[in-house]
Amino acid sequence: LLLAYEPAKRLARVRVSLEAGLIGVRMMYELSDRPLTLAERPGAEALVPGTGKIELKDVSFSYADGEPVLRDLDLVFPHGKMTALVGPSGSGKSTIMNLIMRMYDPDSGQVLFDGQDIAHATLHSVRDRIAYVSQDTFLFSGTIMHNIQLGREGASDDEVIEAAKAANAHDFIMGLKHGYDTQVGENGALLSGGQKQRLSIARAILRDANVLLLDEATSALDAESEALFREALEKLSAGRTTIAIAHRLSTVHQADNIVVMQDGKVAEQGRHGDLIEAEGLYRRLYEFQLMR
Ligand code: ADP
Ligand code: MG
Repeated sequence: LLLAYEPAKRLARVRVSLEAGLIGVRMMYELSDRPLTLAERPGAEALVPGTGKIELKDVSFSYADGEPVLRDLDLVFPHGKMTALVGPSGSGKSTIMNLIMRMYDPDSGQVLFDGQDIAHATLHSVRDRIAYVSQDTFLFSGTIMHNIQLGREGASDDEVIEAAKAANAHDFIMGLKHGYDTQVGENGALLSGGQKQRLSIARAILRDANVLLLDEATSALDAESEALFREALEKLSAGRTTIAIAHRLSTVHQADNIVVMQDGKVAEQGRHGDLIEAEGLYRRLYEFQLMR
């Protein structure tokens, strides 16, 4: 019986973690049956809400195998600004997000939210501050209304519709035969990639967290979806501290600061035009990778 049960359970777990990619980080952990990698520290206190400035101070980190992944990293993500993280695969971009979501604590150094070390804060108070939009656009079976509502417990239908409008999703939803009552089907089979992505943005808008983490998909959207996505992202990120692992040129161009990662360190940072002029790593990535 146990043997038969195990693989099914494992499958369920994979599914839950994929689905959870689009919702609040706190919810992701409540839904997921995998154990938290971190335990609550004794005496941990809730973060005092602030504007959402995030800082990494002299952060070094390695996963269990010991290979250093981030080295003496100093980074500031200013309140209300959008920072794009770019760099070769394996340079540490996702790891930075993992530390900000407090999936792990740094080996040394600090991750600060409005000046408070999150290592000493309760996990929920950290994750409540964050909306996370990932590249895995998974949806639950159920209606569109229900799927957006997951962004915030107790959200009214009107609030859902408002969020969908801001996410450029309202028009396509109204074009469906059953509107917001449309069943999305197994894993959103009835929707296009661009439509699913806009539903995930609607969820994040509803969530109204002051920190937005965006892990972009590498796959290209068609021109119309791309434009709608960019517009929705602009609205979503306004006034929020946004960190985007960016593959889309539109996101990179939109960013207030571009941080170019290489081997767990910052190779260079600045605005697009300055980095192009500097003729460094960014210029090479831009010419050979991002332009795909
Ligand atoms: P990026 O997002 O820039 O592609 P990552 O932060 O995912 O880079 O990975 C940085 C390094 O850490 C890579 O060498 C990767 O293999 C390693 N790594 C990432 N996640 C894990 C993990 N869970 N366990 C062990 N090593 C990991
Ligand atoms: Mg990554």
